[in-house]
Amino acid sequence: MSLVGEEGFKVVRNMPEGEVTDEKIAEVTGVLLNIVRRTLFILYENRLASYRRVRDTDSGWLTYLWKLDLSTMDRQLELESRKLLKNLKTKLEFEEGKVFYTCKKQCNRFLFETASELEFICPVCGEELEYQDNEMIINALKKRISSLEEMTQGAYA
Ligand SMILES: [Zn+2]
Repeated sequence: MSLVGEEGFKVVRNMPEGEVTDEKIAEVTGVLLNIVRRTLFILYENRLASYRRVRDTDSGWLTYLWKLDLSTMDRQLELESRKLLKNLKTKLEFEEGKVFYTCKKQCNRFLFETASELEFICPVCGEELEYQDNEMIINALKKRISSLEEMTQGAYA
């Protein structure tokens, strides 16, 4: 889903088995042809789909026959999970042990040092900057990290 988007996911889920043209895929899935093409290209780039070019003997036109190949999906998911996990850990590291300030409109978040340089006035809206408790953010990050770790360890151990 994160790779191909909601419409693209519809393509993956409903794509007919075997070799099929993009027009046929659009017809079967009800997804717009240009989105089907974009999705196929993304899948191809990620080695989740392949194509074969065939020349029509009558018209001489080239036809692309597409085929899904989800055999490397587990590996792809593992790589994606690891990437996500790393990002979350970097975020957590950034949040932990830091003091943030923000205005009522939450235009931006500032570390204490920056906030004090700004004399605790938001440079965007001019409102006062106030201390922002980031414990909730930290807890949410920790929760996501541990559930992702559980999931990846279970599946890829
Ligand atoms: Zn502001």
